[in-house]
Amino acid sequence: MSSFVTITHEDCLGHDTGPHHRERPWRLETVRGLIDEMELPVIEAREANDEDLLLGHDPAYLEALEEVFARQEHADLDSDTHVSPGSRRASRLGAGGALQAVDLVLSGEAKRVFVATRPPGHHATRTRAMGFCIYGNTGLAALHALERHGLSRVAVLDFDVHHGNGTQDILWDEPRSLFISSHQEPKSLWPGTGARSETGAHDNVLNLPLASGSGASEMKVAWEDGLARLEAFKPELIIVSAGFDAHREDDISGLLWTAGDYWWLTNAIRSVARRCCEGRIVSCLEGGYNPTALAEGAAAHLEALAR
Ligand SMILES: [Zn+2]
Repeated sequence: MSSFVTITHEDCLGHDTGPHHRERPWRLETVRGLIDEMELPVIEAREANDEDLLLGHDPAYLEALEEVFARQEHADLDSDTHVSPGSRRASRLGAGGALQAVDLVLSGEAKRVFVATRPPGHHATRTRAMGFCIYGNTGLAALHALERHGLSRVAVLDFDVHHGNGTQDILWDEPRSLFISSHQEPKSLWPGTGARSETGAHDNVLNLPLASGSGASEMKVAWEDGLARLEAFKPELIIVSAGFDAHREDDISGLLWTAGDYWWLTNAIRSVARRCCEGRIVSCLEGGYNPTALAEGAAAHLEALAR
């Protein structure tokens, strides 16, 4: 098998959030289109099962979700997280795809995997859906690697413009994990968490808030700090929450990143992965709500992962 593969599934398009929601199927169609154009190897995502989801979610939350899904109708899990009859399958493919990517990388079948699914996952906490997210895909993937593959140190890096509060919540008390997130500073962007003072129960969280209006130079300074911390942690696997909404064209935030910045950051992560963990990277699609920004950012990320 190739050293770089992608995991996706067309049923993730069946998560119908309505015509006016930011997180709509065109996003995944865009990324799947890039994968086709670049002729990257594709594996179909598998669904996560209940046991997989229980790795990082409270049983009462999962039961409440099942009751909503069983009604087979449109419903709101919170003010901006909408579900439809196709959402149970789509969200289980998102979580399952992330776990499957960990399996591929840890079995040596691939070195790097990109998981192109929706809905995204990094805002879903142990106990609730939030911010378009239902299951905490990257947090679950980290716990899967620790609990089922017996790894001792797994890092999750999150460069989506919003703080990965859900992943932080899922990994907060997990000393074998390191969570590093860059995002627009909490005072000026939803969800309002992600201050530097939030460091995890075991000093296992590093938040890198960035000022609105900042661009490449501030991003590089923050991530040089973050990647030094990552390298000192000596991860055995690096998982990435890859959101493309810090791009200057995406009006959901005030950061001014460009395609070149996603290229730089992905390469910098690859350099640490080569030195620490034989190049093992699992990256999962998170946000990105402007067509140009998502296409440019994801293309740069995929090219840097695939080369
Ligand atoms: Zn985001």
